[in-house]
Amino acid sequence: MSKQLSKSLEWVLVNLDMMMNKFIIENIDLQKIIMPNINNDNYDISVLRIDKVHAQISGNKWFKLKYNLLEAKRLNHTKLLTFGGAFSNHIYAVAAAGKEFGFETIGIIRGEEHMPINPTLHFAKECGMKLFYLDRTTYKNRNEKYFQEEIKIKFDNPFIIPEGGTNQLALMGVEEIINFIKDDFDFICTACGTGGTISGLISSLKGEKNILGFPALKGGAFLRDVIESLVMERTNQYYNNWELITDYHFGGYARIDLDLVNFVENFQSMNNLKLDYIYTSKMFYGINKLLGNEHFQKCSKLILLHTGGLQGNAGMEYYLTKLKTKNIHER
Ligand SMILES: *Cc1c(COP(=O)(O)O)cnc(C)c1O
Repeated sequence: MSKQLSKSLEWVLVNLDMMMNKFIIENIDLQKIIMPNINNDNYDISVLRIDKVHAQISGNKWFKLKYNLLEAKRLNHTKLLTFGGAFSNHIYAVAAAGKEFGFETIGIIRGEEHMPINPTLHFAKECGMKLFYLDRTTYKNRNEKYFQEEIKIKFDNPFIIPEGGTNQLALMGVEEIINFIKDDFDFICTACGTGGTISGLISSLKGEKNILGFPALKGGAFLRDVIESLVMERTNQYYNNWELITDYHFGGYARIDLDLVNFVENFQSMNNLKLDYIYTSKMFYGINKLLGNEHFQKCSKLILLHTGGLQGNAGMEYYLTKLKTKNIHER
């Protein structure tokens, strides 16, 4: 590479980095909260508001995307391609990031196209993302090498970001989250989907403190191996200061019941903080239950990561109304 070119490339990277950091420095803070039905004098609970980093590239998705975007720029890609479900926060974030930082974006959506288009995909389209729908069987091949090669040809060499944004570059970004915590703490807790976020927390803490993950999907125990190998690849270390709490999935991904809805409404009335129904509310519910069962020693300091995802609530409205009016527990 010529010196000239590498200079201008450096300029692009420094500027993208600066643009991203501007958002971070201005917005993230720790917010003290209280929980329903426990003695709040016994614990010190704060929420790390990474959801506030950007209105659309919210929460953990920002940090997971950061080094992916820088790498895409470094390799001179103009196009990002990624995968996700129809309500995916990741799809939403990539569409917004493309618009904000100057990439074309392509979203490969799991399942058939539904009309009318839901709020998540509507937003993605508005940002300029091109959407393609893949039947669920074919979608399963998304991480296969042959499949990715086909995609590269079909879409003219996009920078491919995996579903949920989880890869080693995502861990690098998530590792920076810990820098925003100036206070001492005992536990840091996050909701889990693909396991990228908890993996980055584990790799940044290097065996210190305790990390709890709350899978938002049913049968989340499979994530243990996924997380272990993501962390191993990143750090070459085995850490055991983390645990998955798999009991609070509420029947599966994006499933909710009245008990959860009541908790969220109660919690929100006590704190100036909104939760999303797919991820954070399930974790907060789980933490509340663990506190009630005296799972944590008295005086424990807990930090709960607000990973964002509020955009998804618009898509959940329909089920919420159904739950409340007909008292249906399953959807
Ligand atoms: C994507 C997402 C998660 C899950 O993050 P992973 O890194 O996939 O485990 C958690 N919370 C919210 C709000 C999310 O959007």
